[in-house]
Amino acid sequence: MLECKQVSMDFGIFRAVDRCSFSIKRGEITGLIGPNGAGKSTMFNMIAGAFRCTSGQIFYEGEDVTRQSTDLRFHKGLVRTFQIPHEFQHLTVIENLMMVPPGQPGEGLLNNWFSPGRVAAQEAETFRRARETLEFLELTHVAYERAGRLSGGQKKLLELGRTVMTDAKLVLLDEPAAGVNRTLLRKIEEKIQYLNKERGYTFILIEHDMEMIEKLCGPIICMAEGKVLIQGDFHTVRSDPRVLEAYLGETQEGAL
Ligand code: ADP
Ligand code: MG
Repeated sequence: MLECKQVSMDFGIFRAVDRCSFSIKRGEITGLIGPNGAGKSTMFNMIAGAFRCTSGQIFYEGEDVTRQSTDLRFHKGLVRTFQIPHEFQHLTVIENLMMVPPGQPGEGLLNNWFSPGRVAAQEAETFRRARETLEFLELTHVAYERAGRLSGGQKKLLELGRTVMTDAKLVLLDEPAAGVNRTLLRKIEEKIQYLNKERGYTFILIEHDMEMIEKLCGPIICMAEGKVLIQGDFHTVRSDPRVLEAYLGETQEGAL
């Protein structure tokens, strides 16, 4: 479904991602792990189109999307969750969901302009979908709260909810469990599993919580210092000496 070929990203003279190659299979939840600064978020930004790779190629559903905009990729179902923007914090939870641009190509502004009748129908449809999404996330009781007043975990659920509003196919989740309490963490896991099994979403998941990675992910990719160290199942990756070394930050020789 996704293939990265020798993808690199330079920030000035610093190479944050260095010739990374890997592929993601449809229907799977792939874990992307590695110590802080490994280049995981930068990799996500390049896959989503927010950063343009310095070199290399990215193929999505067989098509070279390397030079395509974030918008175009979004409309093709390649969706990255992002924190609720500052200016959305004062909007209600349901409004935040309704602000998500329609996931169907051709439903742009221009279409609405020429057929105002469709706008009302579309708004009703968006509202219905937002209500459904809230129910799915078990957030109906806070539908009319300002997003800024939600707890950390509820905000994470809302971010996930924004992807449910689109016709997402491949969803990139960057640390969905960061700062979330245990109860909500289980709930987020449950929702991800549901979206994967029942809706057919494919996920790439960056997460430091190894329990969550083990529970949700099939294949795991481990990055360190901009490079892919290894791709394999949880136990293979977990017991690989290069991975342990990367997490320790230095080799035993280096420490001596
Ligand atoms: P991770 O998500 O694995 O913790 P990042 O992809 O955020 O790592 O960062 C990888 C490296 O690239 C880090 O050293 C970070 O400081 C650097 N970096 C990330 N984004 C930028 C940027 N916009 N400008 C300059 N350096 C950046
Ligand atoms: Mg990161």
